[in-house]
This record gives sequence, structure tokens and C-alpha cells, in this order.
Amino acid sequence: MRTLRSVGELRAALAPHRRAGATIGLVPTMGALHEGHLSLIRRARERCDVVVVSLFVNPSQFNERSDLERYPRSEERDAALTAQAGVDVLFAPSVEEVYPPGFATSVEVLDVTTARLEGEARGAAHFRGVCTVVTKLLCMTQPDVAYFGQKDAQQVVVIRRLVTDLNLPVRIETCPTVREPDGLAMSSRNALLDPDERERALALPAALRAAAELSGAGERSAEVLLQTAGDGLARFGVEPEYLAIVDPDTFAALHRLDRPALLVLAARVGDVRLIDNALLEPAAVETVSTEAQGGCRERHGRSGDQTPDHPGAPGFGIAVTGSSRSTHRQPQGEPITCSA
Ligand code: AMP
Repeated sequence: MRTLRSVGELRAALAPHRRAGATIGLVPTMGALHEGHLSLIRRARERCDVVVVSLFVNPSQFNERSDLERYPRSEERDAALTAQAGVDVLFAPSVEEVYPPGFATSVEVLDVTTARLEGEARGAAHFRGVCTVVTKLLCMTQPDVAYFGQKDAQQVVVIRRLVTDLNLPVRIETCPTVREPDGLAMSSRNALLDPDERERALALPAALRAAAELSGAGERSAEVLLQTAGDGLARFGVEPEYLAIVDPDTFAALHRLDRPALLVLAARVGDVRLIDNALLEPAAVETVSTEAQGGCRERHGRSGDQTPDHPGAPGFGIAVTGSSRSTHRQPQGEPITCSA
């Protein structure tokens, strides 16, 4: 594996592969890698000839300076993990390489997908920062496929929008959320939780599970489901920053679940901001405590993302009471794929 720091080096390294017709996969990350990132990397490794992992803590998407300053960084460990996973190129540019003096362009998706929830909670600059850096990484790498996690569901919807709107020649593939054995969604920020906070963080998967079970049992009122999820959080003394039931493709609010819907939430546990989500649909309860069976799977037969797939499968794979030491993933969680 080569660690590259400049766009010039990256382009030079990829050019011969591109000329030879190799498929290039990109996994954008902010580092402090965990099993969630590694599931994306493994998927890329399975499907692509050349795998590039970018490691860049993007200052422009942080709305709080303190969050940026204490964001976990572990490049040496990340390099070891990516090398072990068979990555070809670790692209780890400096802030100056990505935003050189005079940099003055930004990319912004202007619709409901960026205005609500994460967009509202973190401010317009957050998704502007995400869209700008993802567009730049796609332009720098020019991958055939880029891999993202369902954990950041709203981010994926926004990125699909920008890829479609800008006619970027890349396929976006989404992989299921990877969870700790107790159900907590893996996140680089989990490392910042103290033991008491780590325990209280279980409020998030517990709230999602309670609502998924109820919707699985036939409840169709978003209000009732949100109340249940809210009660689930309250039992752990956790206040939601937002808690909403939305259309998985557009993030527009839903009042009745006459189709699959996404329950999304953000909450602070101590000073650590966590997000999570779960698909709500009638079959959810059947899979809620099923052991994980695997990671990303490709869904065939769709092209264009005017109507991207909803996040795949019944259930969200939270096995809060599971005793297995292994990592839990979304059972049957299929990646969302589209071409642009
Ligand atoms: P980050 O480093 O947090 O910006 O994440 C890089 C990529 O990994 C994003 O596409 C995330 O959605 C994805 N990701 C983060 N956590 C998980 C997880 N627990 N399961 C699956 N994907 C994840």
C-alpha cells in the first residue's frame, strides 16, 4: 500500500490503472478507522481492482471547533489497518492540499435533504462542507464506485443528489451500519465516551429498536412511534437533538407509515454527539434480534438515482441483548446502488 499526500501523486498512481481499464473504488473517511469503515473497504476490495481510501478530517464540515479539535486521529493505526485490508492507496492529504490558498468554491445541495435534521442541527455549512469535500475527492480520484455508510443516511441522500445533479460519472454504493455487539452503531466518536456515557449511549439503539418493534407489530402513526422512541431515550436520561420519521429517499417528514420509512435521531451523550437510524417497515420485528449475516450486497437492476432505493432491507440489525462477541451488522441490509 502506498500512502500519498498530493493530488498529483494520486493521479499519477491511478493513471496507468485507469488506462488498463481497471475499476477504481474510493472509500472516503475521516480516519480513526473501525469495523464500519472496514466493511466499506472490504466491499470495495471485493468489487474493485484498485482501492483508494481517503483519510481527511475535513475542517469545513465541522460546525463546532471543539468537535474538530478533539476528533480522534490515528493515522499510523489507520495505515496498518488499511494495509492489512489490502488497500492499494491511502490518500491522506493535508488541509492545505485540499484547500490551497485562494480556494473559493463550494458545492451546496439546496433542497429538503440539506435543510432539515442534520442540516438544521449543524447549520448549512455542514452539508456544504461535506458536499464540497466529497465532490473534490471524487474529482481527484475519479473512481468508478464510491462507498458510503448507511449510518450517515442523510449524508448519502445528499451525496446521491449532488452526483446526479452534477452528472458525476460515479456509482454510489451504500453499505449497512455496523454495530457493536450491544447494538451501538460504530463511530469514531464512540472513543470519546467515558464508561458511564458509553452505557447511556445504548439509549440510541434501544429507542430505534422499540420503534421498529412497534412498527413491526403494525403501528402506522409516526407520532406514536416517535413517542415510543422518545420514551426509549428518556429511560437512559438522553434528550434527542432531533428525532424524526422521514422518507428514506428524500428525507421529507412522514406522518403515516404507509411505506418503508426511516427513523433518524441525533443525541448528545455528555459532550459527544451521536447519530443513528433504522428502517421501519412491517417485517422489522422479525429480524430485530437476528444474528448478523454479512455486510454489503449489491442490488442489481437499477440505474439512475431519481428514485434511489430505500435503505434496503427489513430490520436494522440491533441485537441489544445479544451475547455474541462478534460485530453485529444489519441482517439482510443491502447497499443502495445507483449510477449517475
Ligand atoms: P467518517 O470517517 O465518520 O466520515 O465515515 C466514513 C464513512 O464510513 C462514511 O460513509 C460513514 O457513513 C461510514 N461509516 C461510519 N460509521 C459506520 C458504521 N458504523 N457502519 C457502516 N459505515 C459507517
